[in-house]
Amino acid sequence: MKLVLASNNAKKLAELRAILAPLGWTLVPQGELGVPEAEEPHCTFIENALAKARHAAAHTGLPALADDSGICIDALGGAPGVQSARYAGEPKSDARNNDKLLAALADRSDRHGHYYCVLVFVRAADDPQPIIAEGEWHGEVLPAPRGTGGFGYDPLFLIPELGLSVAEIAADEKNRRSHRGQALARLVERLRPPPAR
Ligand code: IMP
Repeated sequence: MKLVLASNNAKKLAELRAILAPLGWTLVPQGELGVPEAEEPHCTFIENALAKARHAAAHTGLPALADDSGICIDALGGAPGVQSARYAGEPKSDARNNDKLLAALADRSDRHGHYYCVLVFVRAADDPQPIIAEGEWHGEVLPAPRGTGGFGYDPLFLIPELGLSVAEIAADEKNRRSHRGQALARLVERLRPPPAR
């Protein structure tokens, strides 16, 4: 069965392909099917992910999978949230986003936050029952970056039970533990066909 991915991110595509192939799903990035980038105008992750999934399904006539993710910091009322990729404005820059986050937390003792990811699967653009799976990964914002792995806010995000920033965690371990990994495992569970009655 063919499924369109509402993203052109090569890393996401490879990770999702490997997990969905055993279930019989062939994943095609939307760019290969001529689908333009969708707008992400909403103030919630789920609305943006649904908009992206519906957009890809409407353009292709195929079932579609979309995700939306970000980091939410308690002391900042959940910011950067849906603005995570563009927290410090355009053009997108991980370095400037990290600097802005450190500045925003300079005088704060509560540095707790979480990564969040939502995945949405629609069978068609007007699917009344999308399959939705979420994941959260909790931690603390460090006072300075540590490590070289990962991307985005990873050098600043400490996982207290490991004593490591996400940028210091091996990629396969991050994939197992992360907000995205958790959401994906839940989604796969729900995509499995029910046992025959
Ligand atoms: P997107 O959902 O891939 O567009 O990610 C949104 C933004 O949230 C990214 O550009 C990062 O700034 C942040 N983000 C999401 N997931 C992660 C992660 O696993 N590590 C670091 N930053 C992340």
